[in-house]
Amino acid sequence: MNILILPGDGIGPEISKQLVKILKTCILYGYNINLIYNYIGGISIDKYNLPLIDNVLKICNESDSIILGCVGGYKWNNYPIKPEEGLLLLRKKLNFFANIRPIKCPFKNIDFLIIRELNGGIYYGKPKGISKQLINSIPTWYSYDTELYNEQEIIRLIKVGFNLSINRKKKITSIDKSNVLNSSKLWKKIVNYVSKQYNNIIVNHLYIDYATIELIKNFKNLDVVITNNIFGDIISDECSLLTGSLGMLPSVSLNNKSLCLFEPCHGSAPDIAGKNIANPIGMLLSLVMMLEYLFNNIYLSNKLFYSIYKVLSYGFCTFDMKKYINNFKLVNTDEFGDLVNYYFYYD
Ligand code: NAD
Repeated sequence: MNILILPGDGIGPEISKQLVKILKTCILYGYNINLIYNYIGGISIDKYNLPLIDNVLKICNESDSIILGCVGGYKWNNYPIKPEEGLLLLRKKLNFFANIRPIKCPFKNIDFLIIRELNGGIYYGKPKGISKQLINSIPTWYSYDTELYNEQEIIRLIKVGFNLSINRKKKITSIDKSNVLNSSKLWKKIVNYVSKQYNNIIVNHLYIDYATIELIKNFKNLDVVITNNIFGDIISDECSLLTGSLGMLPSVSLNNKSLCLFEPCHGSAPDIAGKNIANPIGMLLSLVMMLEYLFNNIYLSNKLFYSIYKVLSYGFCTFDMKKYINNFKLVNTDEFGDLVNYYFYYD
């Protein structure tokens, strides 16, 4: 298997290193894995003046799977081109339209999925820009973005949610703002239309404002949550509170071929980068998904999942988790990765 690793910026390299430890243990389990490293984000700007070059896109297309750390950082704040544009380009060019974010914590009996649309909406819609015009004869800055979706983009995302719910609790929660936005009115209409093609799946619609409360208060009622790009971005950060820390959430993005992009949900955490204190769990749980989806090995996937939670159950955690763990024993990123790898191999 050719696995491309794009560690990116900030804490990306530190957490990617922990994932690589486990992948190397998978080689001991008999897998033939070829790890390829390349650049995305700020580090790519430093090297090539671009956050993602064509050659990396080509290597992505030739790989069996892609693992991404995170992009962005203070250094590039005032650059004309931003590290985050590399990530948006990667998602768009490789057509990663569905982003699956499991919100799962065995300690608290939490288990639901957020399916976020990743290829459209306000992050890509045109026109967008910042300009100046005369308002009341005063030159005034104004800005605009466009929340743009077509029917096909919505249908393909919604179907991912419905198909996943078939083997779960058969409950869909669709989040929109259809009391105000046209794009959400179309979204809701299509959810109801698609639901007719699926028997016995219960559909519930929530407006995004109230959904932010329901997600925290009644998470036990949730199974599969489907939503657009921007709402999905925001609510998954919110839901990280349920599991303990933003560093805990993994994700996988799917395209219409078999290529998958695995990445944690958090950003590059520039405030803690380079200190070896970042929580690598979001990254390691992304590997849990890779072992299931790419390696097709449920045994190893479960083994890694329970190794991570075994380490936590013994009280070992990075600094961001300490208020959630009884009698915690603080460890750094490397030590946490080593502990997980130990239980993954020996237990
Ligand atoms: P962030 O997710 O990087 O950090 C928010 C807070 O959570 C910070 O205090 C950070 O230290 C903490 N945090 C995040 N991940 C952690 C981890 N694994 N362990 C411990 N603590 C962790 O969000 P931000 O501060 O809004 O953005 C920082 C940069 O990351 C920006 O440049 C932003 O554009 C970029 N970003 C990138 C991605 C991505 O690469 N997918 C996603 C979101 C933000």
